[in-house]
Amino acid sequence: MLKTFIGGIHPPYNKELTNQKPIEKAILPKKVIIPMGMHIGAPCEPIVKVGDLVKKGQKIGEAKAFVSVPAHASISGKVVAVEPRPWPGGGLIMSVVIESDGKDELYEGIHPPKTLSHLTPDEIKNLIREAGITGLGGAGFPTQVKLSPPPEKGVDIIIVNAAECEPYITADHRLLLERPDDVVLGLEAIMKATGVKKSFIGIENNKLDAVDSIKKALQDKKDIEVVVLATKYPQGGEKQLIKAVTGREVPSGGLPMDVGVIVNNAGTCAAISNVLKTGLPLIERITTVTGSGIKEPKNLLIKIGTPLIDIIGQCGGFKGKPGKVLMGGPMMGLAQSQLEAPTIKGTSGLLVLEKADVKLYEPSPCIRCARCVDACPINLLPTNLAKFAEKNMWVEAESYHAMDCIECGCCSYVCPAHIPLTQHIRIAKSHIISSRKKK
Ligand code: SF4
Ligand code: SF4
Repeated sequence: MLKTFIGGIHPPYNKELTNQKPIEKAILPKKVIIPMGMHIGAPCEPIVKVGDLVKKGQKIGEAKAFVSVPAHASISGKVVAVEPRPWPGGGLIMSVVIESDGKDELYEGIHPPKTLSHLTPDEIKNLIREAGITGLGGAGFPTQVKLSPPPEKGVDIIIVNAAECEPYITADHRLLLERPDDVVLGLEAIMKATGVKKSFIGIENNKLDAVDSIKKALQDKKDIEVVVLATKYPQGGEKQLIKAVTGREVPSGGLPMDVGVIVNNAGTCAAISNVLKTGLPLIERITTVTGSGIKEPKNLLIKIGTPLIDIIGQCGGFKGKPGKVLMGGPMMGLAQSQLEAPTIKGTSGLLVLEKADVKLYEPSPCIRCARCVDACPINLLPTNLAKFAEKNMWVEAESYHAMDCIECGCCSYVCPAHIPLTQHIRIAKSHIISSRKKK
C-alpha cells in the first residue's frame, strides 16, 4: 500500500500542461530586482550603491544575523537603484535593481570549492550559507539553520521533499528527470553536514518516471531510499510527509527536528550540488509558468529577480484575458497584482488563469456537513476556527490550535457553502502572532 497521511483532497492536478516539457533556459533579463529579504529571518543589508558595476554571483547583500542569508547579483551590469520595491509577498521591500550589460559575466571570486569528500561539516554549512541557499519549496527558511539542529533533538533522518503535490507545478518533476544526480549529490552533502546516516526521497506516484530516474542515480547507495507516496494534496506538507514516510507525528507547535527529522526540498538539494560543482550561489531556479491564461506553458530556468511580466512574455504572453496571476500553485499560491514584482528564490511556479476560469462564489451559511473536518490534514476544526475569527475571538482560536493550521486550503476547497475558511483562519493567526509579540 502507498504511504500517505489522513485527510487531504484530490484536486485536478493539471500537470500535463508542462510535465513533458524539458527545462528551458530563460532569456537573459534586461534588469533584475533582488529583494534583500527573500528568506524567513532578518533581511540582509545592501552592500552596493547606485552606479556600482556588479558581476554574476557577486554578493550584494550581507547577512548579519544567524537566521539570514546573503543576496547575490543574478546578472552582470550596473546597479541603478537601491530602494524599497514591490515584491510578491505584498508591500515594499528593500531591493537592489541591476540593469544588465548583456554580458552575463561571472564574478572573479567564484570558484568551485574542494570536493565533498574533502569538506568538513562546518565548511559545507558555511558554503550553503554564503551561497544564500534557502528552502526552494516556498517557505524560504535558511538551509544552513535547518542543518544546525541542537544535538539534543537527536536528528536521525533526512527526507527530501519531492512530492510536488501542488497542482500545475512540475519544476521538481523535471529536475528529478533531468538532473537526478544533482539531487543525490546535494542530499549527500546534507547528510555529511548533519552526520545523519539515513535518508528518504518522497515522490508521489503520479511521477513514476521520476522515481525510476532517481533510483538509477542512487545505484547502490543503501543509506538513501525512495518512498513512493500516494498522490494526494498536501502530501508535500512537512508534517504530512514525515507522517507518511516515517510514521512519526510532529507535535502541535513543534518542528520536524522534534521528531528527529530534517526535511529539504529537491530543488534545495540541487542548489547545494550547484555550489559544490561550480561555486555559484543561488541565483537561478526552475519555475513552472503555466495555466489556462498562458500561451506557451513552460518549465523555465530563470534568473532570480526577473520581473514576473518578463517571465510571462517569454511564455508567449497572456492567452485571453487574465483573471488571476498566482506565484505558486492554485492551493497555496500568492495572488499577484504588480507584475513588475520579481521572481524570488521560492518561486516554484507562476500560474495564470484566464478570466473565464476564475470562479467567484458567494458564501452561504454553514450546513455542518463536517467535510472541512474530514479534509483537514492537521485534524483541526476549520468551521469553529473560522467562526472564532469572524467574531474576533482570538483566544478561543488559539486554544483550538489555529497556529497549527498550515494554510493548505483543503477546508475551503471542499466547503459546499463556499466559506473562505482558510482566509478566516489566516486572519486569526496573524492576530495571535501580533498578540504574542506584544506579550
Ligand atoms: S484548517 Fe488549515 S490545515 Fe486544516 S484544512 Fe484548513 S487550511 Fe488546511
Ligand atoms: S465544510 Fe463548510 S458547510 Fe461543511 S461544516 Fe465545514 S464550514 Fe460548514
